[in-house]
Formats: sequence, structure tokens, C-alpha cells
Amino acid sequence: MKVLKFGGTSVANAQHIKQVQNIIKNLDENNIVVVVSALGGITDLLLRTIDMASNQDEKYKDSLQEIEDRHIKTIKELIPIQLQSAILSKVKSELNTLDTLAEGAFLIAEKTPQLTDKIVSFGELLSSYIISEFFVSAGMNSAFKDSRELIKTDDTFGKAAVDFENTNKNCNAYFSKTKNKITVIPGFISSTAQGNSTTLGRGGSDYSAAVVASAIDAEELQIWTDVSGMYTANPRIVKQAKAIPQISYEEAMELSHFGAKVLYPPTIQPVLSKNIPILIKNTFAPEEAGTLIAKNDNAQGKSVRGISNVEHITLLSLEGPGMIGIPGISKRFFEVLSQTGISVVLITQASSEHSICVGISDVDAAIAESLVNKAFEYEIATNKIKPVLVESELAIIALVGDNMKSHQGLSGKMFSTLGKNNVNIRAIAQGASERNISAVIRKDDVKKALNTLHEEFFEENIKQLNIYVMGVGNVGSRFIKQIQNQKKYLKKILKLNPRVIGLSNSRTMIFDEDGIPLENWDELLAKGKKADRTVFFNTVLSNNHRNSIFVDNTASETIANTYADYLKHSISVVTCNKIACSSDYKKYSDLKELSREY
Ligand code: ASP
Repeated sequence: MKVLKFGGTSVANAQHIKQVQNIIKNLDENNIVVVVSALGGITDLLLRTIDMASNQDEKYKDSLQEIEDRHIKTIKELIPIQLQSAILSKVKSELNTLDTLAEGAFLIAEKTPQLTDKIVSFGELLSSYIISEFFVSAGMNSAFKDSRELIKTDDTFGKAAVDFENTNKNCNAYFSKTKNKITVIPGFISSTAQGNSTTLGRGGSDYSAAVVASAIDAEELQIWTDVSGMYTANPRIVKQAKAIPQISYEEAMELSHFGAKVLYPPTIQPVLSKNIPILIKNTFAPEEAGTLIAKNDNAQGKSVRGISNVEHITLLSLEGPGMIGIPGISKRFFEVLSQTGISVVLITQASSEHSICVGISDVDAAIAESLVNKAFEYEIATNKIKPVLVESELAIIALVGDNMKSHQGLSGKMFSTLGKNNVNIRAIAQGASERNISAVIRKDDVKKALNTLHEEFFEENIKQLNIYVMGVGNVGSRFIKQIQNQKKYLKKILKLNPRVIGLSNSRTMIFDEDGIPLENWDELLAKGKKADRTVFFNTVLSNNHRNSIFVDNTASETIANTYADYLKHSISVVTCNKIACSSDYKKYSDLKELSREY
């Protein structure tokens, strides 16, 4: 048996659902459990509806209407007209119940977690019913089963904990008897022993699928989504990122906890204990291999499997002489955070015990600051500990890989690569498992840091050079021609990929972060904006690219006087302008000193 889960975008509309049908039809399997999310965006809409209704905002009716329209439209586009009426009337009756529940919240101006779960469950209930009916109408041997009768939980509404014993019993009893080739069940929803609807947390359909896969000892769990697997880094930030063909459960867990949104992190646990592989596939590019998550039996494999990032991080640092050798300080620090439900993402403590530093989410920063200061009121008043230091707008980047432990020098390489590119590291953490090396950096450096590290660890050492050229006279224009002519050679032999990002003469300047097309740079430059060396410099800084190089092909003394500014930001300077290096000896030696320092 295989369990296939399709996420919200995969079932967003009739056209996508037909794509899902094709995938299932092409599967050579006798027993398939299909777990589906709500039609894309419906869960958010349901949550907004209940918020508006409980705030007595009449507009909740508009979002109910939108929910109704989306489902009716999907049915009309999927189901042959002669079969529509029974399905429409069932869906309309469900929508009426939803209306009544929302009206209840409106009238009493209140929402409880229990009512929210009841309302939000309609997203998955409706999508799974419609999809199953569509399969039946297309002649497939398919049936619908309400997962609230299978997955049993406690009553923590909003994020209920699964009662595995009863869930496993229910699933086995049902699936061992069913004669249908395909069973479609709603993801995300479950129920308590008393039969009240619960949900498994946002993104929880993945988890539903994993729970069922584990209960029935499925041969494979497939997660169908809108990307082709887990990537070596976030592909929206790193263009060169690639899907990882195979990864261990532990690596996948690290990557999904650290920002890769492909998989809801708790999903791995239920299948891990039974060694059921998870295959992540793209509904919109089913021919692509995707990522297989399975047991790691490849101790010799790639050391760094992926680089992940978490944004919106705040560091809280507690320091002071009163901490040294005093047991219990960290216990109290963590206790205040945990009592308020603040999750700690990263921890570091220097061996001097003079400071402890934790990373939390930006949204928790203000409350954490006041609680920690209150908890240590006495120590702060007596100068034993300083008020907690709060630094926001940070991010974590992490190298992840099971086999990192058998390689030395990886953290050295990571930090020197970042250092060379002027990325300041605020804190470092490495788990004893050595599966993850994390660094806290400025949020604005994330793009540069990820690209630099990706280049270093994944791109066969082809280095991208981001070049800013000033001056396009005789020497300048020949220089551009040379880059153009030698591009292939540089890539093949020297493993360099130069791109001219900025270009200026004394009249105009142009920028293109993807590289200025060098065949017609002169026409483009003629149409550029007014040249301004301060704006040029500021653009180099704000682009914040790795391996940035300023090339001065002018003969201007004013430009030569700006080299120090570039060097101080770890931007290399290359020049044929003789002024800087052949005027005052002091000027020359200062520049040499700076270039050594940075
Ligand atoms: N529909 C739910 C959500 O959007 C669950 C899921 O799709 O995984 O969070």
C-alpha cells in the first residue's frame, strides 16, 4: 500500500485536480490512500471568516460566499453535468452547516479553539469529498473515508496530539477490509474520543498522511507538492540550488526545522520508526525525480547535504559577573521562556559561563525581554547580571549533513567563506551530533551568505565574480571586451564566472543584478541614469553580493580617493588608474594595509 498526499496548491482548482488524477492513474498500484489538503487558500479563508464573525464584522459573509463559489466552481468544472446535482446538494448542505457555525460565532461574538477546529475542518472535508466523487465519476475505483473516524487525538484543539493506539487500530480495521483501490481521506482533521473535530496544526495534512502510512505499514509515503523536492538551499534565494536526490530522515528533519518549508517537520517521526521511505514529488513536474527521504546507509556520501536559513530571529544575551559558577541561572532563563510558550531556536554558552545567548523568533522578542528582566530583577538591581541584551533583525543559516562529523575543516571553511565576504557572525552553535552547524547573522546578509556557502559547498567551485566597472574609455572598453571573449575559458580553466553588475562613465551608469549583457553595453549605458559615484558606491553596498569587485578604469583622482571605502567593506579593488599607487607613498601604503586587513 502507498499513501499519497496532495497539498493545497496541488488541489487548488479543477485543472490541478485533473493533474492529480493523472498521477494516480499512472501509478501501478492496487491499494492507494490519497490524503488531500483543502483547496489552496481555503484554510486561511476559513480562519479569516471565523475571526471576522467573532469580531461581529458582517464581512464574514463575503468570505463564506467566496468559499462557496470556489467549491461550486470546482465541482462544475470537474463532474459531468448529469452527475452534478447529488454532489452539489451534499456540498451545499455542508456549506449550510458551516454558515450556521459562523453565524453562531457572530451572534455570541466569540470563538473558541473547539469551534475554530470545527469550522476549519470544512476545508479538507469538502475538498476530499469532491475529489473522491470526481474519481468515481471518471470511472476510478475510489471511495471517500472521513479521517475523523480513523485518526483519534486528545482535545488540544488547534494542534491535537495523536492517540496512536486507537488510530492504528482504526486504520488497520478499515484498510484491511476495504475493497476499493483508492481511498480518499481529508488531511489535517481528526477527532477526540468523544467525536469532536480536532486539527493537527497548520500544514498538518502531511502529518495525517504519515500517521496513516505508519499505522498501515505502507510501503511508501509520497508527498506531492509544488516544488521538486528538498533543495540544497532555498531556490528563491539561491538560483543555483538543486533538488537533493536522497537524504536521511535526520537530515530532512534538520532542514525542515531550519526553514525548508517543503515538509511539515513532525511528519517524519511516525514513518521513521518503521523505516517507511518518504518521496517528495512535484505535482506540476511529475517527471522530475524529487527527493527520497530514507535511512542513511551512505556514510561516505556528501558531507554537506543542504544549507538552510531561518529568518526573523532575535538574540537574547544574558551576561554578568554574577553568573560565573552559579548553578541554576540557565534553568531560570529557559524556564521563563518555556512558561510563556516561547520556543528557543538556538543556544550558545561560552565556557567562561559569563554569558548565555539564545535565539528566538522576532515576534516573541518584546515579551521575552520583559519577562527575563523581571525574572532576574534582584540580580540586575544588585549589578550581578546586566539587563538582557536584545538584538533583532537577525537570521540563522545552517549547514546540514549526516556525514559532516567525519570531515574536518567544514566549519573552518564555512566561517572563512563568510568572513571573506564581510558577513559578520553574531553567534555559532553546533550540535554534538555534528549534523548541523549554525551561525546567526544579520538578516540583510542572508542572500549573500547563502549564495557564498552554496558556491563553496555545491557548485564544483565555480566562483561567481560580481564586477562593478567605472570608466569605459580605451582601457575600460577593452576590459569589457576581454571579459566577454574569455568567459568560456575563465569558467572552464579558472572556474570563474565573471558578471558585470554595474557600469559607469562620467555621464551615465547602469546596474543589472543578473549581469549586464556585454554585447550591447554601450547602448544600454547611453540610456542609463545620471552617473553619481556616491550612488554607485551605495548600490554596490546595498546589492551586497558575494565576491564583489570594484574595477576602476578611469584616470580620475576623485575615484582613486574612494578605494579605501570599498576596501573597508571587503570589496576588492582592481585598478589601472595610476594615481592611487603612484602619488604619495603614504596613500599607497595605507591602501595596501587596508587590503591586507579586509
Ligand atoms: N489545510 C491545512 C493548512 O493549510 C493543512 C494542510 O494543508 O496541510 O494548514
